[in-house]
Amino acid sequence: MHEYDLPQTLPETPTPVTSFDADLVVVGAGIVGLAHAALALNSGLRVIVIDRDHEAVGASVRNFGHACITAQSGELYEMAQVSRRHWLTMASRAGFWLAESGAVVVARTATELAVMEELSATREPGQVVLLDAAETATRIGRPDADGIHGGAWLRDDLRVDPRTTVAKLAAWVAEHERGSVRWNTAALGFEAKNDGGAVTIRTSRGILRARQSVVCVGHDIDYLWPELAAEHQIERCSLQMALAAAPAGLDLAPAVLTATSMLRYPAFTDMPSAARLRDEVLASSPELLDIVANVMCTQRPDGTVIVGDSHAYSLAVAPFLEEDVSRVLIQEQVDLLARELTITQRWQGVYASSAVGPYLVREVEPGVTVVSVTSGVGMTLSFGLAERTLGAFVPALQLSV
Ligand SMILES: Cc1cc2nc3c(=O)[nH]c(=O)nc-3n(C[C@H](O)[C@H](O)[C@H](O)COP(=O)(O)OP(=O)(O)OC[C@H]3O[C@@H](n4cnc5c(N)ncnc54)[C@H](O)[C@@H]3O)c2cc1C
Repeated sequence: MHEYDLPQTLPETPTPVTSFDADLVVVGAGIVGLAHAALALNSGLRVIVIDRDHEAVGASVRNFGHACITAQSGELYEMAQVSRRHWLTMASRAGFWLAESGAVVVARTATELAVMEELSATREPGQVVLLDAAETATRIGRPDADGIHGGAWLRDDLRVDPRTTVAKLAAWVAEHERGSVRWNTAALGFEAKNDGGAVTIRTSRGILRARQSVVCVGHDIDYLWPELAAEHQIERCSLQMALAAAPAGLDLAPAVLTATSMLRYPAFTDMPSAARLRDEVLASSPELLDIVANVMCTQRPDGTVIVGDSHAYSLAVAPFLEEDVSRVLIQEQVDLLARELTITQRWQGVYASSAVGPYLVREVEPGVTVVSVTSGVGMTLSFGLAERTLGAFVPALQLSV
């Protein structure tokens, strides 16, 4: 079970707003913090975002930029669809690149296709569109369909450019008449609401007072609340990634997923053939399970291709990248796209992970709520989670966004 303890509502007769620096102080300018800031601004609140760094360089700029809506299930699917709506709105308001491209899942065996067929049968017509081998090859820019069995197009998935989206969203918050972003300002501690209804945030640049604070520090909750992090079993998941130079003639609209993606995302793992798929991958490509791979790629607007990824779980992140892991991932991608890739960058991404649940929302002090996506789909869930968290203490939110 995951945590979802709702924060207290605002006082009915709040202290005049002039005694606060803001209605809401958001700690962390990654996608989760900025989603809270954007929706709070849209609801008429005064918002300050602080981040300890000089610009966002965390998980939100190191990922694929893939809002993986369709492959969620249950409550996460509902949240992802809410998120989708806000992604579309905020792309036009903040002016960042967004593609309603969907995603293509490539099937290279009958079992892989069976999982897609089973998912398709559970969804409304048109949401999970089954493709034959030739259609699948065309959608991923392949000259031939050799080795491709078929595939599926996941209509509702979105793509943004991870390297520019967060900066644009932060700039929109900073330029908003009721918003500001303070970089290189670390949250050091919090004091619960006192009689005046203010929560106090101690920062590396002085004290801030607000009606509420939402703390979105990703995997670094243990730096502020080690007991909470231990209780929710929060670990750091580190992922190896690479960027390929723009391949000549490749125009890859959708995110491209594979069998290993189907072993991760709940809509697929819920399907009857998923267990058979795992056995099949174990038999054919055990090296992919060894590195907990999710072989996938996305193409950025400049044509470069983001290639990933592997997963390693620990409390502290080992700083050393394993070349063998990169080699496996890149070769898988070369085989999938049937073209050579020139790798120009490698990096490590880190996100919060927990065996307890896919996200954590916990009011740790009156007026101070910790929010973290602990399942590697923070881009997908960000705005949906923010709407739920804020909705608990901003009744007007539903009306104004
Ligand atoms: C390689 C990789 C691929 C991924 N692919 C996808 C994907 O395709 N789709 C998807 O949905 N998700 C994906 N994810 C997951 C997603 O990127 C994360 O879940 C999401 O970015 C988390 O956002 P965040 O705002 O919580 O964290 P972050 O982006 O890490 O932001 C946290 C911010 O908090 C700040 N901070 C920390 N402590 C303090 C403090 N004390 N005071 C002030 N500021 C502080 C940090 O400086 C940082 O800017 C991927 C992640 C990685 C690493």
